[in-house]
Amino acid sequence: MLQIKNVKKQYVTGDLTQVALGGVSLNLRDNEFVAVLGPSGSGKTTLLNVIGGLDRYDSGDLVINGVSTRQYRDRDWDSYRNHTVGFVFQSYNLIPHQSILANVELALTISGVSRSERRRRAREALEKVGLLEQCHKRPNQMSGGQMQRVAIARALVNDPDILLADEPTGALDTDTSLQVMGLLKDVAKDRLVVMVTHNPELAEQYATRIVRLRDGVITGDSDPLEVDESAMEEPRHKNMGKASMSFLTSLLLSFNNLRTKKGRTILTAFAGSIGIIGIALILSLSNGVNNYIEDIQKSTMTSYPITIDAQTIDLSSLMESTTPQRRSEREVDHGTDAVYSDPRLLKMAAAFTTSFTTNNLTDFKRYLDDPKSAISEYIGENGVVYSYATKFSVYTRDPEGEFFNIDGSSLEPESRSSRYNMMLGMGTMMTAARSDLTQLLPGQNGALISPAVTDSYDVLYGRWPEAYNECVLVLDKYNEVAASTLYKLGFFPAGEYRALMQQLSDGTELTLETKSLTYEEICQKEFYLVPACDAYAENENGTFTLLEEDGYELEQLAENDGIKLVVTGVVRGSEDSDAALINGTIGYTSALTDYLIAHTEDSAVVRAQKQDPDRNVLNGMAFAPMDDEAKVRDAVEYLSGLGITEKAQFMQALLVTGAVDAASLMAGQTPDLSQMTGEGQTPDLSQMTGEGQMPDMSQMTGEGQMPDMSQMQAMGEAQYAAMLDAYLQNPDAEVMLAFYDSQISTGSYDGNMSDFGVVSRDAPSSISLYADSFEAKDGIAKCIDDYNATVTEENKITYTDYVGLLMSSITTIINVISYVLIAFVSISLV
Ligand code: ADP
Ligand code: MG
Repeated sequence: MLQIKNVKKQYVTGDLTQVALGGVSLNLRDNEFVAVLGPSGSGKTTLLNVIGGLDRYDSGDLVINGVSTRQYRDRDWDSYRNHTVGFVFQSYNLIPHQSILANVELALTISGVSRSERRRRAREALEKVGLLEQCHKRPNQMSGGQMQRVAIARALVNDPDILLADEPTGALDTDTSLQVMGLLKDVAKDRLVVMVTHNPELAEQYATRIVRLRDGVITGDSDPLEVDESAMEEPRHKNMGKASMSFLTSLLLSFNNLRTKKGRTILTAFAGSIGIIGIALILSLSNGVNNYIEDIQKSTMTSYPITIDAQTIDLSSLMESTTPQRRSEREVDHGTDAVYSDPRLLKMAAAFTTSFTTNNLTDFKRYLDDPKSAISEYIGENGVVYSYATKFSVYTRDPEGEFFNIDGSSLEPESRSSRYNMMLGMGTMMTAARSDLTQLLPGQNGALISPAVTDSYDVLYGRWPEAYNECVLVLDKYNEVAASTLYKLGFFPAGEYRALMQQLSDGTELTLETKSLTYEEICQKEFYLVPACDAYAENENGTFTLLEEDGYELEQLAENDGIKLVVTGVVRGSEDSDAALINGTIGYTSALTDYLIAHTEDSAVVRAQKQDPDRNVLNGMAFAPMDDEAKVRDAVEYLSGLGITEKAQFMQALLVTGAVDAASLMAGQTPDLSQMTGEGQTPDLSQMTGEGQMPDMSQMTGEGQMPDMSQMQAMGEAQYAAMLDAYLQNPDAEVMLAFYDSQISTGSYDGNMSDFGVVSRDAPSSISLYADSFEAKDGIAKCIDDYNATVTEENKITYTDYVGLLMSSITTIINVISYVLIAFVSISLV
């Protein structure tokens, strides 16, 4: 017996509360055919669903065979629906892609009945509804009445105690309706059938009891069942246990489902795989990128050490302040009503000037060399590399036999710098290593070349240098070297280059061909290296003079006494390495640097200067007189002591630059020439005139203007020397001071030493700190910051961290890629 006790049910949708059942009480016999009649919306379906356990009631109770369902849990309801109730719906609810038999069997499958038993009972049920012959048809191959009968067979296959039918004939025509009603009536013989219908005639005709419902309450019952509540025992609580399906069955079912819906399966599989592949991609990408970053860390670290130069630009602050901003991105705090000045360029210039700093590398080297310094634990396998600014000139002979300095001066059509400029102190300077010549990164423990270099460059021919006078030629990845560099280095005739340049300036069309050299030709090349200290020749009076580049003396010296540098190999950056460890065309070893440092220390000029640290060995003057008067005196003394040729050159320079007005000089505003002659310091003028080498002085004076160039050239050296002597009697103090500052006072002891190329081991020109990982690099950076915190303002170290500058952008790129991928995967997963 089924007892419905004051069951209430309401639906709340938004603000609206809809009472579906307003306290329904109904007792149903185990054997009867109940028809529930009522207008649409009166709560018939709701009542049926509550009875069938498809819907929960709000209050009241449903007592099934003396068992209250009030404390049923979900699994009890599942079991109840499976074993006790069968459902028939107006819309049949058959699975379209499965056969009739399979549809009926399905109800049993869920109940966990064996396969053969399932088959037998399904056929039995189909037989009962008269459709056994058609059991292999699909639902869409049947009529509505037949489908509803299949639905009834399905509901009966479990042999339920209760059959619930919600308007089973609602979609059927009269004849089939009658058939279905007949069937239900038959079924109701040995179980309870509750049927909802709209059709009062059918209900009257077939049902044994009619219950009328209106607005959720019972308004009529043709055959009520009164139960003596007091006689009955209290409803017990008993749980039903769960409906079960064997694992194999569920597996087979899933397979069957996949097999029969190929399109959907493929689509689902496709979408699923995109999702899975996507996730795998993201995982492997982030993983791979991490590995990759770790991999390149080391190679990056070897190409980009933390570099500290003696003179440096604070790149990071410079970049910050000068990062070009497009106009649209700028924030301006003024309107557009007037003309405003844009301060950016000025700011940039300001940043540029303040970004230049000088580092005290001597103190910092002491800190680095101290094994107790915290920084030592972060230094990688390439360690700390000190560079020293050695000074030398390098000469070579080109294929046509021309001998020249590889600094490129020989390639300029007007290669010789002005003699006069030189006289006024802008003479040829010996500079530190040319950019074309570079020292290879040395290794640890005295190794000439770091493994970082040998690992990332392939030797194409020959071998790495092993001695101080050996070097290699470095090619780019296309086996190329800039043509101008090859001309400069004398691999091709300099004359050819000059001719090309001439063509360029003439406007003739250039015919440029790619020229090539064999490795053998390269390795026959020799360079002649002159250390700066060797370019000073000792004079008879014990002073030293810088050999003139113009005078070919240096070239002589280079060819005869220079260090002969031979090319022992040709190397090229290996394919898998993007390290740029060598940034020059000719690479020499630290052995050459060491040799130059020792050689310079031992040179005559350096020894002489060291012996007499108070006097400048270049001119015999005392270093740094105190006042201007002394400076002028020194300058005059120096000039007076020069030979005739030098005096003449200097005088010419003075005249050409206009520092001295020849006319006034000759007009006697300055000391009288005759007077000078009388002093006998210079050659007798009348004597000079007698030589006929120079034009008549009186003639020149008569012109009242400074002599023109041809005239000047015509004048003899002695004459110029005499003019200088005359001038020196009462020189212009400013001219003398300028001369002093440019020519004599360059001599400070330290300045001289630096000119001679003396390098102190304690004072590197730059320090490179190599780390093996980004963490170590950050550690080094932190140590430097700590170091800076302990020293005075002027000893603080400013360093350039190229990697730091580069890395931020790389991280951004990786992040962006990840986000894009995540977006893709999310879409495909959805
Ligand atoms: P009948 O089957 O007699 O036509 P129902 O039992 O389906 O009526 O519905 C009874 C009342 O409950 C109706 O007013 C209906 O609008 C409402 N109702 C039924 N189901 C829901 C639901 N899921 N949500 C909200 N209101 C519902
Ligand atoms: Mg309904």
